[in-house]
Amino acid sequence: MIKLTLKDGSVKEIEQAMPASEIIKGIGMGLYKAACVVKINGEVKDLRTVIDSDCEFEVLTFDSKQGKETFWHTASHLLAQAVKNLYPDAKLGRGPATENGFYYDFEVEKPFTPADLEKIQAEMKKLAKEGFELERFELSRDEAVKLMKERNEKYKLELIDKHDSKGEKLSFYKQGDFVDLCAGPHIMSVAPIKAVKLTQCTGAYWGKAEDGIQMSRIYGTAYPKASMLEEHLKQMEEAKLRDHNKLGRELEYFTTVDYIGQGLPIMLPKGAKVIQTLQRWIEDEEYKRGYELTKTPFMAKRDLYKISGHWDHYRDGMFILGDPDDETKECFALRPMTCPFQYQVFLNRKRSYRDLPMRLGETSTLFRNEDSGEMHGLIRVRQFTISEGHLILRPEQLEEEFRGCLDLANYCLETLGLAEDVSYRFSQWDPNRTDKYEGTPEQWDEAQGTMKKILDNIGLDYEIGIDEAAFYGPKLDIQIKNVFGKEDTLITIQIDMLLSKKFGMEYVDKDGKMRNPYIIHRTSMGCYERTLALLIEKYAGVLPLWMAPEQVRILPIKPEHNDYAYDLCEKMRALGMRVEVDAEDDNIGPKIKQARFDRVPYMFIIGDNEVKDGTVTVRSRKEGELPAMPAADAIAKLKEEIDTKAK
Ligand SMILES: [Zn+2]
Ligand SMILES: [Zn+2]
Repeated sequence: MIKLTLKDGSVKEIEQAMPASEIIKGIGMGLYKAACVVKINGEVKDLRTVIDSDCEFEVLTFDSKQGKETFWHTASHLLAQAVKNLYPDAKLGRGPATENGFYYDFEVEKPFTPADLEKIQAEMKKLAKEGFELERFELSRDEAVKLMKERNEKYKLELIDKHDSKGEKLSFYKQGDFVDLCAGPHIMSVAPIKAVKLTQCTGAYWGKAEDGIQMSRIYGTAYPKASMLEEHLKQMEEAKLRDHNKLGRELEYFTTVDYIGQGLPIMLPKGAKVIQTLQRWIEDEEYKRGYELTKTPFMAKRDLYKISGHWDHYRDGMFILGDPDDETKECFALRPMTCPFQYQVFLNRKRSYRDLPMRLGETSTLFRNEDSGEMHGLIRVRQFTISEGHLILRPEQLEEEFRGCLDLANYCLETLGLAEDVSYRFSQWDPNRTDKYEGTPEQWDEAQGTMKKILDNIGLDYEIGIDEAAFYGPKLDIQIKNVFGKEDTLITIQIDMLLSKKFGMEYVDKDGKMRNPYIIHRTSMGCYERTLALLIEKYAGVLPLWMAPEQVRILPIKPEHNDYAYDLCEKMRALGMRVEVDAEDDNIGPKIKQARFDRVPYMFIIGDNEVKDGTVTVRSRKEGELPAMPAADAIAKLKEEIDTKAK
């Protein structure tokens, strides 16, 4: 008898080993039809997986993230099948799911055109109606090579080599005549892929760009129902209007310049002002929570990174100044992280257990040599600023301090209005890729076991990401989606039991013995540039008053009202408010229009009556036009809104 613990805690028993799909059929045909993939003991698996021992068993449908990914990835096979039917000479590349659908890369003589997409889409619909089941089979290396040679799939032969050299199984999925080398998972058949839209075709490279192998990439999305597809396409249209990479440039938050470089945005005054506001707020908040501020160099000699492990594990990600291979000359690197610099604060003198926990914070600019193809507006950049911190502590302080970091992160997200958009990811190492990581399996088991206990004690709902840890320890990543659904890490909290030893960090414990402390690496404002991008998208350019770059614009109707306007402006600036006067010699209509375009939260309109009575007429973006009120009252109203950080 095999016992399956279901999501609701109930237990289902099966007589003998059988595929997950058969078990789900036994639970109900409705669930079977909706099932995309299963989670077995927390790991996402294909529905074809045979269950042969007791486990936790969860069925994931299209409503879940992994369900969608599996559905969309299966749709990419359907796309490839349709392309091979219509263009038998096309060679298959890869076809993963994306945040909103899927793509597949093909080598073709002539790149695909929008007219081709129409044809391919129609073919996909036809094939979906035929309802092919996907069959999985495994081959030995020789058999796999033979099959792909027969089919003339030279890129699949490359992939066979790659997987085989890592010792991975070579699994194939077949639907009708179409066969693809793929690890899965997939849904059981193509029948549920009822609504398909191929959205665009672009050029793409196979492998590295410098190899210059051009592919033609087709993007698409798919849903189980036409109404769901329509809803999605409508959302994407709306998303385009909020896209920070467009709106942020139009509203002059930032720009980029080709000859400065990709991923190196220039913050214009508005963007810089928002970031300054956020930075002051977080630095003050961290001070309240017992953090001490540090300021450390942007670069160091390679010697530092050799100790920290960055030289061995992260060199490709760093900008190096000098010849890394010439040991006779000094060689520097821009910092990709602040950790090894901040440790020097601890190392500055002898420490005892009384000094711990030591909470160090720094508004820290970092440099990472990301692939230029990955750059996107303010979300993927090569130079960025984070509020970085390292907590150096005694082992018994770990849980409490971890909770403190999470509390600060959540306070930060809540205040920004982003709390409801995040999910949590427990990023672990990959025991099969030990070369990527510092430390022994025992040390990793201990760090990950401790982190799991803390997360479970807190009761956090998280997903597990394998091979996503930092090279020195496991992470809790707080993930957020941009307006197009693409997920990135915004905030991270990491447990590190290894690095203190490498740097010789020690403290005298209560019993007089020397011990190595534990370290938490964490951010509170993960990346200011990325946060600004998300805020622009979240609020469609109309930031809450407390963080708006320009909070109030005063609009005198005629030149004789200017003195009063400037007077008011000066008073408000003295209170710390961000105020401008539009004294252009123009009619009030165009001035109001411009202020609206600039998404200024409040306009104060000044005419004869206002000057005479000492009042202002307020136009609020949220509340519309308000009756004239004494200037002091209007200022107090705004001050209250700013001080409470109202959303
Ligand atoms: Zn596949
Ligand atoms: Zn760190």
